[in-house]
Amino acid sequence: MKALVIGAGHNGLIASYYLRKLGLEVQVLEARDKVGGMTESLTVNHAVISRASYVLGLMPEELINEFHIPVIYTEKIQTIQYDDKLIPFYRDREKRLKTLSSFFPKYEEFEDKVQKMKKIMKKFSFVSSPPSKESIMNEARSLGVPEILELNSIKFLSEYFPQEVHRYFIYPSMEEAPSYMVAYFFNEWSFVEGGMGSVASKIAERAQSLGVRIKTSTKVDEILVRDDKVKGVRIGNSVVEADIVVSAISPISTLSMVDQFKSIRLDSGGGGWVKYNVVFKETPKVDEQIRPYLDGILDLEVGEIVMPSIVDKTRGKSVLEFMGNREEVLSLFNGKIEYEEKLNADFATKYYFLPGGNLNHLPMRCPYLFDGRPVKGWGYRTPIKGLYLTGAGTYPGGQVTGLPGYNVALAVKEDLRQGL
Ligand SMILES: Cc1cc2nc3c(=O)[nH]c(=O)nc-3n(C[C@H](O)[C@H](O)[C@H](O)COP(=O)(O)OP(=O)(O)OC[C@H]3O[C@@H](n4cnc5c(N)ncnc54)[C@H](O)[C@@H]3O)c2cc1C
Repeated sequence: MKALVIGAGHNGLIASYYLRKLGLEVQVLEARDKVGGMTESLTVNHAVISRASYVLGLMPEELINEFHIPVIYTEKIQTIQYDDKLIPFYRDREKRLKTLSSFFPKYEEFEDKVQKMKKIMKKFSFVSSPPSKESIMNEARSLGVPEILELNSIKFLSEYFPQEVHRYFIYPSMEEAPSYMVAYFFNEWSFVEGGMGSVASKIAERAQSLGVRIKTSTKVDEILVRDDKVKGVRIGNSVVEADIVVSAISPISTLSMVDQFKSIRLDSGGGGWVKYNVVFKETPKVDEQIRPYLDGILDLEVGEIVMPSIVDKTRGKSVLEFMGNREEVLSLFNGKIEYEEKLNADFATKYYFLPGGNLNHLPMRCPYLFDGRPVKGWGYRTPIKGLYLTGAGTYPGGQVTGLPGYNVALAVKEDLRQGL
């Protein structure tokens, strides 16, 4: 049986690997001239930058180990600014609780609740169908954390932190989302050796070693369907036939490529972000106050900053990546810039083929959570036999998790057992 995967982002690549393990003949079709999508490293002037995503934190250990992802575990996960002080989140739990509790007296209770919420998420990580809101709620009640869905993120955070620091736990656009989202993003973030492109290249290597074929510079224009069964795809004037098609691109793009789905409207949401990647000619002089905290994410009022070259010698030169106010962030680093680029939603729309430039493919709020992502009742399956969905626009959602990629293969496995 032949399966096609549309899109070689990390989720499409993971899906291809596990589909191949089911014994299918698998080909990945990628529009760009390289794999990875938003998990991309770019070499410029002998320096390696993580072009879009820059830290790994949501990928389960099982997948990190399976693909030998070279994660760099540093002492600090993240440091936040509050009241003109810098407060580090140490990877060591005891040290973290002690530090955070000295600034925020109810911190331990906060982390305890978040860890319970994460336990629920873990339980529903590897699934062939996304859980319903009710099943999450039942678990939450039994663990004594109904806040996970009952309170929105801002109300939940207000119990534990002053308003000035809320934005370090939840993006402003997600404040109204259930506190589930605070737990989703609360993680042990780390750098990856060689930049985030190493995530994609490691997965691609493993998939290819099993026999998966990856074709780049190949943009799929249409998904072909006959009698409610998938038949393959159209690329320009040519047709590639297949028994199974797994679409790992934005669900908005997928729906636009299938006649039967063209009337379904999804909200792209999610623009308004900006990321800068900077390479310095020589090591810059870094502001004394922030220098000790650059072995993790530095969350300042002026922006979220990483300088991965401090801990990753494969980066070649001093590399600074940040989302925030350009002038204010750069004023903390005194050195000659030899390369600089700015990414935003318009860039991502063109460059990563992302409708609306949403880095999570779809908004991370209701109705696009749990079994409502991307279309209520679909999960990784569609009403068309043999056509499946994965990627950030499917459960559990955006960021570099690998879970949608793994889970769609679980759904295919189940359906194959029942004769597809
Ligand atoms: C600036 C920025 C910073 C981020 N920071 C982080 C971070 O630090 N940590 C984190 O975990 N996440 C981060 N994210 C989000 C994260 O990168 C994405 O949510 C995740 O990479 C999505 O992966 P994916 O495999 O689902 O999809 P994508 O990476 O979008 O991959 C989809 C692939 O499909 C291809 N494609 C699209 N249309 C077609 C077509 N018609 N035919 C063939 N191929 C097609 C695309 O070219 C792309 O390669 C960030 C994103 C951005 C933009």
